Amino acid sequence: MSGGFAAQRDRMVDRQIAERGVRDPLVLDAMRRVPREAFVPERERTEAYRDHPLPIAGGQTISQPYVVALMVEALGLGGGEKVLEVGAGSGYAAAVVAEIADEVFAIERIGELAVAARANLADQGYANAHVIHADGTKGLPEEAPFDAILVSARTPTAPAPLLEQLAPGGRMVVPVGLGVAAQSLMRITRVSEDDYRADDLGEVWFVPLIGEEESR
Ligand code: SAM
Repeated sequence: MSGGFAAQRDRMVDRQIAERGVRDPLVLDAMRRVPREAFVPERERTEAYRDHPLPIAGGQTISQPYVVALMVEALGLGGGEKVLEVGAGSGYAAAVVAEIADEVFAIERIGELAVAARANLADQGYANAHVIHADGTKGLPEEAPFDAILVSARTPTAPAPLLEQLAPGGRMVVPVGLGVAAQSLMRITRVSEDDYRADDLGEVWFVPLIGEEESR
């Protein structure tokens, strides 16, 4: 791909994201600002703006840029929110969220990735993004409730603690499925204290969520 990283990033946003229907200007601007090359392993840097996921440590992946944009748009952020991400991976999606929201808490179960994600976010100056090394299926009760929850790994059903930790009016975006076929990207809105509404946003492919509260 020709041009410097900034030119590649602009092209990525225009062709892979805006042309496919992501319209939220806050999301498009955030995707134009976060340097994806700083979140991928050194040997993958030249691939940073390609239209696919890339390998990171621990056999995991940094998601396809379009999928990150689609998921963050579905969270419906307007600024000022407290957000939880489950599956910090490289820290890239947390950085995109941190561009818009007030604060993001990103949980990662693999220690090596949590350390790297924390360093990547700090190197890029995201003081409002916090990485926690833990099992994210339990959420983060000490920081709950959250205005939005982004689950960046697939699960057969949304873990109960995450549903409980979503603020009334809040949105959770989660890939629901088993992995033998594509997952449905679901947006779950907590309409009131006891009432949740689910919308299917289409097919995605994710690595599994592995934790105590994940139903198999
Ligand atoms: N959002 C990441 C990024 O921007 O690089 C990509 C996430 S990757 C597709 C999924 C991540 O979820 C992996 O890093 C995996 O280790 C993590 N994961 C899986 N189960 C988890 C759990 N129970 N708690 C926290 N993280 C988990």
